[in-house]
Amino acid sequence: MLKKADLHIHTQFSDGTFSPQEVIQYASKIGLACIAICDHDVIDGLETAMQLGEQCGIEVIPGVELTAEKQGAEIHILGYYIDWRNQKFVGQLAQLCKQREKRIYDMVEKLKAHGVKLDVEEVFKLGGKGSIGRLHLARALSKKGFIAGVDEAFKKYIGNGKPCYVGKINLTPEEAIGRIISAGGIPVLAHPGVMGKDEFLPSYIKHGLMGLEVYHTDHPPALVRHYEALAGENGLLVTGGSDCHGLGKGRVLMGCVTVPYELVEKLKNARR
Ligand code: AMP
Ligand code: FE
Ligand code: FE
Ligand code: ZN
Repeated sequence: MLKKADLHIHTQFSDGTFSPQEVIQYASKIGLACIAICDHDVIDGLETAMQLGEQCGIEVIPGVELTAEKQGAEIHILGYYIDWRNQKFVGQLAQLCKQREKRIYDMVEKLKAHGVKLDVEEVFKLGGKGSIGRLHLARALSKKGFIAGVDEAFKKYIGNGKPCYVGKINLTPEEAIGRIISAGGIPVLAHPGVMGKDEFLPSYIKHGLMGLEVYHTDHPPALVRHYEALAGENGLLVTGGSDCHGLGKGRVLMGCVTVPYELVEKLKNARR
């Protein structure tokens, strides 16, 4: 049987709902050979996941997904095979997590000004383990009945450019790429079709970007072909994954987008 990999999975250390144990159990159940854990600005789930993966015969790639901002657009950079014990990198992540907390307070304030009176503790109750984010905020709004579902929260209030959105992300994509390289990782542009800023690509490549996440839950076939071609033209690696958030986005996406193991080998060979 062909070995398959899902290279974009979140745990409850960021905005997923699955513990590392649950991620491994699920991956094992659906027969994945390899997964990459890529939590937002946090690496705390990696060690447990890697240990459990080894016990269950599932290869776990240590990863991370850094949130950056360029000209008001939100850009995510994946880092594969990062040295998650690199103290400088870990310190930088801790700083980003602090900024994330501040951002939640700011968004809750903005919501208040829009007549949505949510207790900030409701958000932190849903997070708690690692990095806090907008999906926690959206789930708290939904739980308290302010909206019908998390999607509405983004469309109406906290999506990029919506009235209660707070940017203030103190990191450019080029800096994120640099940090990943310094931590020994392979920087890959996450879901470029969602970000929709192809014009930034030359600058990313100049700063060391090595791959594109061509296959993603939110990439319809036409976008897959587009980014496959762009990766080919620019000599970039190709990755892909479901961006599973456990039950955080309603249904479990793990395994819905996979790549053949061959692409994992290419990724591995690109390690410095
Ligand atoms: P943050 O990391 O706080 O900037 O929040 C970004 C995260 O919110 C993404 O990684 C997704 O998990 C989630 N998200 C963004 N847009 C949506 C949406 N329309 N529906 C559900 N979740 C979303
Ligand atoms: Fe997320
Ligand atoms: Fe992302
Ligand atoms: Zn993600």
